[in-house]
Amino acid sequence: MTASCALQPVIVGAGPAGVRAAEALVAHGLRPVVIDEASRAGGQIYRRPPASLAQRSAQALYGFEARRADAVHAAFDALRERIDYRPDSLVWNAHGGRLDVLHGPTRSTSGVPYGQLIVATGATDRVLPVPGWTLPGVYTLGGAQVALKFQGCAIGQRVVFMGTGPLLYLVAYQYAKAGAKVAAVLDTARLADQLAATPAMLRQPAVFAKGVYYVAWLRAHGVALHSGVRPSRVLGDATESRVDGVAWHDGREERTLACDAVGFGYALRSETQLADLLGCRFEFAPLHRAHLPVRDAAGRSSVEGVYLAGDGAGIMGADAAEWAGERAALALLADHGVAVDTARAETLERKLHKLGGFRQGLERAFPVPSDWAAHAPDELVVCRCENITAGTLRQTVSVNGADEMNRLKALSRVGMGRCQGRMCGVAAAEILAHATGLPLQQVGRLRGQAPIKPIPIQLAACEPAGDAGA
Ligand SMILES: Cc1cc2nc3c(=O)[nH]c(=O)nc-3n(C[C@H](O)[C@H](O)[C@H](O)COP(=O)(O)OP(=O)(O)OC[C@H]3O[C@@H](n4cnc5c(N)ncnc54)[C@H](O)[C@@H]3O)c2cc1C
Repeated sequence: MTASCALQPVIVGAGPAGVRAAEALVAHGLRPVVIDEASRAGGQIYRRPPASLAQRSAQALYGFEARRADAVHAAFDALRERIDYRPDSLVWNAHGGRLDVLHGPTRSTSGVPYGQLIVATGATDRVLPVPGWTLPGVYTLGGAQVALKFQGCAIGQRVVFMGTGPLLYLVAYQYAKAGAKVAAVLDTARLADQLAATPAMLRQPAVFAKGVYYVAWLRAHGVALHSGVRPSRVLGDATESRVDGVAWHDGREERTLACDAVGFGYALRSETQLADLLGCRFEFAPLHRAHLPVRDAAGRSSVEGVYLAGDGAGIMGADAAEWAGERAALALLADHGVAVDTARAETLERKLHKLGGFRQGLERAFPVPSDWAAHAPDELVVCRCENITAGTLRQTVSVNGADEMNRLKALSRVGMGRCQGRMCGVAAAEILAHATGLPLQQVGRLRGQAPIKPIPIQLAACEPAGDAGA
C-alpha cells in the first residue's frame, strides 16, 4: 500500500539516520523534503569531501567503514530524484508547523512547512576545556577529523590527541595513517576502565576488534599512548598565535610534550536544540550524562508528528542511526494509516535494544573524568563566546545563589553567545553541579533558543519568506 499524498514529511539531517528514513518513506510512495546544512549527504561519519576536490577512494576516506559508507551514499544517490533534497540549508528555528531555513551559498531564507518531522540532527564533540584551549591550533577531535576527511589536510605537523572516547584513538590512527606525526595520545580513562568494560564491549565483537586494532597499530608505529592522565594545559604563545606543547599529570608528576596542534574531546553530545524548540519533553539519561529528548522504541517523541532518530537523541553510533532512521519512518507511516512491515519494525527495535549493553560498555571504558570540574582552575575560560571563566561561574553560585543552568546563564551570560551553549553547556553544567554539590541531573540544561546555530544577525531580525522553495 502506498502512503496518502496528504502526508507532508520533512527530514532534518542527511546522515545515516536521515538517509534510511528517507529511503523508507520513498519506498512507501512518499516524496519527503530532506534538509541538511552540509553540501553533500552522508552526515558526520560518512562525510563526503567537496566534489571539486580530488577524489580519494572510500577506503582512504573511511577505512573499515568504506563498505557501509558506499552503501549509505549509494542509497542516497538512488533517492535523489524521488526526494526534495535541500543541501547547504540550515534549519535555525521551528515554530507553528514550519521550519526557518537559511540557505548557505545564497544566504536566502525560506519557511518550510511540515506535516510530520523526522529530526536526525546527529552529534558534536563533548568539550571539557583545559587552560590554553582557545589558542589557534587547538581543535576538537571531530574538527580534526573533519579537516582530514573533508579538506584532506592535517591540523598540524606534530599533533597530540587528548581526552577520551572511541574517537580519540580512531582520529589518532587516521592522522598517523595519513602520514601526520602523532606525538602522543593522552587518554583520561584508565587502562583498568577499559579492561573492566571488555565483557560488555565484546557484545559487538567486530566494533571491539576495530578499537583494539587502532590501539595496536598506533603502538606498533611508535605512537606514545598514555592512559589515566589529567590534561593540565595547552602550552603556547597567545601573541604569536601558536601551540608549543601540552602539559599533563600522569598521577605522579606533571609532564610536558612539544607539539604544534592539539585535538581534544570527551566523546560526543547529541544535537538536541531543534527537538527542544519543537517542544519535545526531555529527561536526564544517566548513560549519556545528558538531558535528552524522550522517544519511544520506535522513535516517537512526546510531540505528535515529531520523530527522533540517530545520535541526535542519544549517542548510539552509525549502525544504530541507520536502524533508528528506518524505524522512525515506519512509525510515521504506521501512525498515518499506512501498512508497514511490522516484522521489519520489530527486528529494527530488537537490534537497537541489543546495542544498549555495548553502549554501556563504551561509557565504562571511556568515562567522562568525574574530577574535571574540581581541577578546572578559576581562570579557565569555559564560554569562549562571552569569555566567561570557571571562577565567574563559581562566583555566580556563591554570590548570586545560581543553582540551575538557565539561572546561571541569566546571571553570568554563559551560553549566551554565538554557540548558544552548544560548546560550553556541558562544561558549565559540570562546574555548576560541582560548585553547588547537586547531582548533574538536578542542575538542568540550557533551554534551546533560536537561532540554534549562528546565522547573520540581519536574517534573524527579518521574517523569513513564506513558502517552501529553496
Ligand atoms: C565530527 C564527528 C566525527 C565522527 N566520526 C566518526 C567516525 O569516524 N566513526 C564512527 O564510527 N563514528 C563517528 N562519529 C559518530 C557518527 O558520526 C554518528 O554515530 C553517526 O553519524 C550518527 O548518524 P546520524 O544520522 O544520527 O547523525 P549525523 O551523521 O551526525 O548526521 C546529522 C546530519 O544533520 C545535519 N544537521 C544537523 N543539524 C542541522 C540543522 N539544524 N539544519 C540542517 N541540518 C542539520 C548535519 O549536517 C548532518 O549531516 C562522528 C561524530 C562526529 C560528531
